[in-house]
Amino acid sequence: MFELTATPIDPADRARRLASPEAGAAVIFEGRVRNHHLGQPVTHLEYEAFDALAQAEGEAIITETEQLYTGTQVHCVHRTGTLRIGEVAIWIGVASAHRAAGFAACRHVIEEIKRRLPVWKKEHHPDGAAEWVNCTTETATNPTLTAYHTRQASLPEVGAAGQAKLAAARVLVVGVGGLGCPAALYLTGAGIGHLTLVDGGHVELSNLHRQLLFTLAEVGAPKVLAAAARLRLQHPAIEIKMHQGDLTATNARALVAGHDVVLDCTDNFTSRFILHDACQALGLPLISAAVHRFEGTLDVFQHGTGGCLHCLWAGRTATELEPQENCAGGPVFGPAVGVLGVMQAAETLKILLGLAGTAAQQTRLVNLLDGSTLTIERLARPDCPICRRLDQLPAPATAQNSELKNLWITAAQLTALGPTTKIVFLLEPGEMAPSGGRNNFQAIPAHDLAALREFVVTGPVALTCRHGLRSAALARLLRAEGLSDIYALKSL
Ligand SMILES: [Zn+2]
Repeated sequence: MFELTATPIDPADRARRLASPEAGAAVIFEGRVRNHHLGQPVTHLEYEAFDALAQAEGEAIITETEQLYTGTQVHCVHRTGTLRIGEVAIWIGVASAHRAAGFAACRHVIEEIKRRLPVWKKEHHPDGAAEWVNCTTETATNPTLTAYHTRQASLPEVGAAGQAKLAAARVLVVGVGGLGCPAALYLTGAGIGHLTLVDGGHVELSNLHRQLLFTLAEVGAPKVLAAAARLRLQHPAIEIKMHQGDLTATNARALVAGHDVVLDCTDNFTSRFILHDACQALGLPLISAAVHRFEGTLDVFQHGTGGCLHCLWAGRTATELEPQENCAGGPVFGPAVGVLGVMQAAETLKILLGLAGTAAQQTRLVNLLDGSTLTIERLARPDCPICRRLDQLPAPATAQNSELKNLWITAAQLTALGPTTKIVFLLEPGEMAPSGGRNNFQAIPAHDLAALREFVVTGPVALTCRHGLRSAALARLLRAEGLSDIYALKSL
C-alpha cells in the first residue's frame, strides 16, 4: 500500500492499520523533518510531488519489495504540502512473519523511495531564503561519496582518467550465482558506472554459502532484484539494470549489445556457448569462468586473440560437456567460485583500463585444494568456424601443429592407435584412484607434472580426470611442450 497525503500523518493510527495476526514482527520507520540540512538551519519544508508519477512509482516500489521479501506486507505514506519541524514526512511499516525480512524490506523501501520517487523538497531557512532539493538526485550527489575511489584512483595504472573510464563503462554480468555475486560486488566497488544483471533464478537456501550478496531474508526472491538492492547499498551512484530471465539463443545478442565487456558467470555449457557466440559476433570481450568443486578455469575471449571457446572444446558439444561439469546442484567449494568471480572482475577492470596484457590468449586454472595454478596458451584452430581466418594466423610451429590434431579422443579411437596406448587418470588431492585393472592404466596426482612428463614420454597417451577440465588443459600443455601423442579422453 502506497499513499501520498497532504494531511498530517498519525503514526499510531498507521501502526494500528498495519497490525496483522500472521505477522510476528512489525518494523516501523518514521522520517521526520529536522531543523537543519547540510549545515544550514531549516525552519520548515514543502514537499511537491508529480502526483500520478509518484503514486505509480511508489506502488511499484511496494510491489517489488513484497516480491523481494516474501511474506511481508508493506505500507508507505509520503507527505506533500507544508511540514513543520518534527512532523512525519514519510512513514513506512512492514508486517512480517520474521524480523530479518521485516528490517530488510523496510530498509529497501527507504532507499528506493529516496532514489526513485519524483518528489521535490523546498527547504526554508531562518533568513527567509528557500531552495528546492530533488530527493532522487540527493543520493547520487551525496558528498560522502567523493572519497569513495581515492585509494583506487591513486594507483598510477588507474588515475582520474581511468576512474572516469570505469564510470562511463557498461558491463553485463550473465548469471548472478557463485561467480556473479563476487564479480558484481567488486565491479560495483570499483565504480563501474552501468551494470546489467541477467538471471532468471530465485535465491535458494542452498545458494547462500557461496552467493554472498544474498541473506536468509531474500530466500525465494528473484536473484536480480535481491542483487541489485544489495549493490545499490554498496554504491548508490551506480546505475543497475536488471533482466529477470534466462539468456537464450533468441535474446542473447540483444542483451549483449551496447555493453563494453561481458562476464560469463553461468553454470552450464549451453548458456556459455550461446553467450560466447553472441559476444564473438558483436566483437565484445567475454570474461568466462567455470568451477568444479575446488578447481576453476578462467578464459578471456577476444575475437582475433587466441582461440575461442570452440577451439578450447573442439569436437565436443555443449550437451556432451554438460554432465561432466555442470555445477548446478553439484558440490561446490564456496571460496573457489569466490576467487574465480573476483578474477573475472579484475580482468574486466584491466580491459577497461587498457591493462589487459596477455590474458586474452590463455586458459588459467586455479585449484584451491592444493593451491596450484596453471597457465596454458589457448591457440586458435584453423578449422574453427569462428576463428577461421587463415590469413591472420601465424605460421604453424611444431607445437602448434600438434595442437591442431584433435585433442579429444574416445576409448575406442585410442585402442585403435595400437597396443602401446596408455591412459593416465589425474588425481585431485585426497582422491582415490578408480579401479582400472589394466596394465596400461596409471593414476598420477594432477599436480605432479614431473611424474606425468616421465610417464607420457612415449605415447600415445590419453589423460582423463573426474571432470575433464584438468585433463584437457594438461594435454594442451604437454602438446605445447612438443609431445604430439597426447590426448584428452572423452570418458573412461
Ligand atoms: Zn575458435
